[in-house]
Amino acid sequence: MTTKLGTRTSYSKLSTWLRCPRKYRLRYVDDAPEERTAVALVFGTAIHEACELFFEGLKVGAPPSSDEVHGAFHRAFTDSVKLAEDMHVPMDWGKTNQTDMIEKGEAMIAVFLDEVDRGIRVVGTEVPFEFEIAPDRTVNGVIDLILDEGNGRYRVVDIKTAASTYGPDRIDYDQQPTVYLAAAEYLCGAYGKVDFEYWLLLKTKKPQFKIIPVVRDANDRVELIQTIDDVETARQHGVYPRIRGFMCAGCEYRDCCGQKGGRP
Ligand code: SF4
Repeated sequence: MTTKLGTRTSYSKLSTWLRCPRKYRLRYVDDAPEERTAVALVFGTAIHEACELFFEGLKVGAPPSSDEVHGAFHRAFTDSVKLAEDMHVPMDWGKTNQTDMIEKGEAMIAVFLDEVDRGIRVVGTEVPFEFEIAPDRTVNGVIDLILDEGNGRYRVVDIKTAASTYGPDRIDYDQQPTVYLAAAEYLCGAYGKVDFEYWLLLKTKKPQFKIIPVVRDANDRVELIQTIDDVETARQHGVYPRIRGFMCAGCEYRDCCGQKGGRP
């Protein structure tokens, strides 16, 4: 069987396949119902919504009050928890609970509001993209934040919540910056004039806000294209191996994947 190119993929699908191809199959091929709702996902989304409110306010010269940003987090988090219950996809709280997570989120947002640079110039938040990263390979996704750095330069920011800071492997090899840098160059027409940063909000005992600059070059772009082609070839051949590891404990599909029952 020859591989047919002309691929169109979203960054989130690519990233899901790279973390666990079986999860990709369950989510995007089998359309399997999620067995539970991961608290990390709901929490991260609520933090994003609060940050987005803040950046949108900065963009129009009217930053929201601290109470408004905290309120956005609280509302987004509690609404998602309620939705999960209403949809009968129970929250997977792990070793935590709703009260602890709200306290943690409030503390993280307080650190963020205390330390974030209010002099940034916001071009856009939640900016969608779709472009041909190489002939016959189209990627799409959404960029959290694009900043105008002046003199035709831009900065792409991806906001993350994490339990600990990123190590050198992730900083050197994660393909998200490679995709997002290319996307921002395309969107802004600023080829070679875009920088990338992770803005990490750490769920450590004392929350921290860290900015991690990431650099990518032409070799990273070549490797990304190869990865897109490899994933497409595997997908066309129905190759979806399980990647057993620490992620299984929080996986939305862990029962049907075989931890407690049938193996699809
Ligand atoms: S339980 Fe583990 S192997 Fe199975 S889909 Fe989830 S992450 Fe992948």
